Amino acid sequence: MPAAVSNFPIASDARLAGDARQTRFVLDLDKPIQHRAFVLADPYRVVIDVPQVSFQLPAGVGTAGRGLIKAFRYGLVMPGGSRIVFDLTGPAKIANSYVLEAANGQPPRLVLELVEVDRAAFLQSLAQEPRPELRPAIADANAAVTPAKPAGPPDNRAVIVIDPGHGGPDNGTQAGGSEFMEKNLVLTFGLALRDRIEKSGKYRVVMTRSDDTFIPLDERVRIARSHSAALLVSIHADALPRGEGDAQGATIYTLSEKASDAKAERLAEAENRSDAIGGVTMSEEPVVADILIDLAQRETRTFSNRFARILMGEMKTTVRMHQHPLKSAGFRVLKAPDVPSVLVELGYVSNKGDREHLVSESWRNRTVGAMSQAIDAFLAKRLVSAGPTEGAAVRLPVKP
Ligand SMILES: [Zn+2]
Repeated sequence: MPAAVSNFPIASDARLAGDARQTRFVLDLDKPIQHRAFVLADPYRVVIDVPQVSFQLPAGVGTAGRGLIKAFRYGLVMPGGSRIVFDLTGPAKIANSYVLEAANGQPPRLVLELVEVDRAAFLQSLAQEPRPELRPAIADANAAVTPAKPAGPPDNRAVIVIDPGHGGPDNGTQAGGSEFMEKNLVLTFGLALRDRIEKSGKYRVVMTRSDDTFIPLDERVRIARSHSAALLVSIHADALPRGEGDAQGATIYTLSEKASDAKAERLAEAENRSDAIGGVTMSEEPVVADILIDLAQRETRTFSNRFARILMGEMKTTVRMHQHPLKSAGFRVLKAPDVPSVLVELGYVSNKGDREHLVSESWRNRTVGAMSQAIDAFLAKRLVSAGPTEGAAVRLPVKP
């Protein structure tokens, strides 16, 4: 939607002032808005939930911190709801947060004032907070309404869930301008993959996100499970930190308790930080209890690994692969016990050649073609034996 036609409040600038004892954040707006600010622990963060805002802030704002604020990010977390997430240098308390009307030639402003506290005082203020919802407290109710789907004949086609990583305040990895931001690259790719798969008409595709919205990792898993998906494909693009050499090519990851190597383990840790970056508290509660999971998981892993091998076979004929293209680690998004799941790192945004590929339409078309062929090969074989609506043999109940 072009910005010109939206009625959302516009944030035009943001700045930080103060020092390591007291820090102030100011956001310039074109009209006053509602807000709710709260703290989160481990890592120390402050979150401000606001109605959907059109952020038109200068590029790079929020990457450099000041005082108690290490960095901050912002973005959409649901239709009608935006969020600003601050990483803190240590425990701090929200001394004040308020919205000022336009006055003295200044636009309306959202102001957040933080003061340094010790960990005990921080935890005490955290305990007083009502536990923040996964979804923001503040949202424009009108924008959140989704139109009811027209009733039609039941769609029994197998469901493929495409999961573009990151989104909203979680930008993912980045090298260069916003066109190389992981969240944007993987969304473009995911939508192209959806279009390609839908062309055949054989499968139904469900996207975990189809715009720049933050989706918590457990919610991505829940989406796949609630659709009894036959497959989940999570799309990412990796980057090596500066000074850690160069790597290139695509890598396919499956779930394992013990990572296949140290780099895979570190990558899974980085990807699993998405919830912290997006400003939600991570829950460690199991999806479903005990023995059923075991049974389903074993089977699901076999299928995940089979798909990973088929995918590698298709991709390596058309796309540059990493020197060790099949790896495994404890990715949270791959943890659905009953949906075969793989995570594809399309390439390294830190590598010049890969970066050129990632924004190239012809590369994208080739890769999307290879992936949809692999999906077809994998499902054609599975569905013959399992029937059109059966993804896994063991289906577990899904919590709403
Ligand atoms: Zn990622």
